[in-house]
Amino acid sequence: MFTDEQELKFYVLAHGIKIDPAAEAAWHEQFAGPISLGEYASTSGACLYTQAGTYINAPFVESFTQSTEARLVFDGNFAVVKGNLTIPVSVIPVPAYHQQTYVDCEKEYPYTNLGVTHTDRCRISPIEGCAWVCKFCDMPFEKRYRRKPMDQLLKVIELAKDDKLSPARHVLISGGTPKAYDEPWVDEVYAYIAEHSPIPVDVMMPARKDMTYPVWLRSVGVNMVSINIEVFDVERAKRIIPSKARHLGLNHYLDYIEASVSAFGVGFVQSLVVFGQAIEPIESTLAAVKALAKRGCMPVLSAFRPDFTTPMGKEPPATMEEIKHVYIEAMDICENSGSGVKLGPRCMACQHNTITFPDGSDFYVGPHESLTHLGGTVRQDNHAVLPDKKCA
Ligand code: SF4
Repeated sequence: MFTDEQELKFYVLAHGIKIDPAAEAAWHEQFAGPISLGEYASTSGACLYTQAGTYINAPFVESFTQSTEARLVFDGNFAVVKGNLTIPVSVIPVPAYHQQTYVDCEKEYPYTNLGVTHTDRCRISPIEGCAWVCKFCDMPFEKRYRRKPMDQLLKVIELAKDDKLSPARHVLISGGTPKAYDEPWVDEVYAYIAEHSPIPVDVMMPARKDMTYPVWLRSVGVNMVSINIEVFDVERAKRIIPSKARHLGLNHYLDYIEASVSAFGVGFVQSLVVFGQAIEPIESTLAAVKALAKRGCMPVLSAFRPDFTTPMGKEPPATMEEIKHVYIEAMDICENSGSGVKLGPRCMACQHNTITFPDGSDFYVGPHESLTHLGGTVRQDNHAVLPDKKCA
């Protein structure tokens, strides 16, 4: 029922990988940098991909990877070996610009403070830290809340696009979540970046109260939007994502997602759902998938991976059985939803830390295809203005 590559991805997401000394030495020799930036649980692994377009973010430092049977080996080329199975892979290095720094208000920061590239997408974060506290996320526990300089956010996109090791071909503007009084400033960032970015811009953000907001977001040139449900069960949500659970309520979120699909279209709105026994019962995860799919929103399934710096650091990761079960059921729900939606994300390279695979259809976009296929044009018809800078 599953291909060897799919089985391998499920296994590696659940158990991780060991990196053979020869593979580690070859990686350092070829790219002169670390294997991973290690900045967030679900993106902290080694980025690998197969010839058939299966992208895998393979955890290798977390304690749950100690007993894994999968190994990244190098014998002139990279491959993943597990038992009798050997699958050749290519690897995606950490970009060169991750080593560069910038100055803000006379203080020096690494560019990774503004943006990081995973596979082919540069993720920028206008806010450092986060106004919210989710129990599986390191952001509010590791960083002090502050706004970042808008001009440098644009600069990091330019660096990411032209990176010699891992050039980015699209951008995600992501969290932390701004405090309510910073929402107008964040709107300026969205409009400014969408206007000036040389590559297409997606936004990941919480729902707003204003149901017309998605129309405005589309009008300034944003291509796709991600409004994450994360935890569907209301009681579990109160414990794991308390700020979001208190924010506007699940029903508002679902209505807002529906309004976003109306504004952007099916295939341009997605919602991330974290799953595994540590998060909520699997039936609840599948209820989330159903609620999203019937509204034409792509469910993006993220197998829970504990980050030791967070209160959920000692919880178990999603098991391989859970991952397979959720995948099979979620595929079935999408197929029968009647909305035409499939599991997200559509960008194959961005599937590395989700349980999604290309299916040969043109719904999914490969690394050498243009993102204009996704409506990824860079609009020039809006007029965002960069406000004067003030140091705190
Ligand atoms: S809202 Fe997003 S960035 Fe903030 S704590 Fe939750 S997951 Fe992390």
